[in-house]
Amino acid sequence: MKAKKRIALVAHDNRKKDLVGWVEYNWRSLLRHDLICTGTTGKLVSETIESKRMSEGGATAPDSSIRLLKSGPLGGDQQLGALIAEEMVDLVIFFWDPMSPQPHDVDVKALLRIAVVYNIPMACNRATADFMISSPLFDRPYEPIVKDYSDYIQRSLT
Ligand code: PGA
Repeated sequence: MKAKKRIALVAHDNRKKDLVGWVEYNWRSLLRHDLICTGTTGKLVSETIESKRMSEGGATAPDSSIRLLKSGPLGGDQQLGALIAEEMVDLVIFFWDPMSPQPHDVDVKALLRIAVVYNIPMACNRATADFMISSPLFDRPYEPIVKDYSDYIQRSLT
């Protein structure tokens, strides 16, 4: 992955406040990267970054884009999973809610799984997101080693 990362941001409703707080704290770093968000999370992230930028007179020009997917329960998590499988996502910040059942629980599980398959760094809570964003690798190129699945692809089915 390049120095400029493609970062996915997703938060369940009960964790959106946490994510907005994290974005408020880290908006300057995030402006250097491209963001991909599920619908409602993305709207909040974009409003938060814009209001932080404006509170400083708009001087910090973004060197980034925000792509909004569908809302998570309407397919956004699956869209994100597909982007991971197509190797179009470098990092995932996913504040999922451990205390409430989700209508799209199977999609959430699939997203967690595919991120592990492709060895994508994934933060599921604020402390891990803090470690991730303060890593020297956050703004440097990095090549994650993806497990070799060729044995699986070429397995004999006869
Ligand atoms: P949302 O989706 O950002 O549209 O709320 C998040 C999710 O539930 O996966």
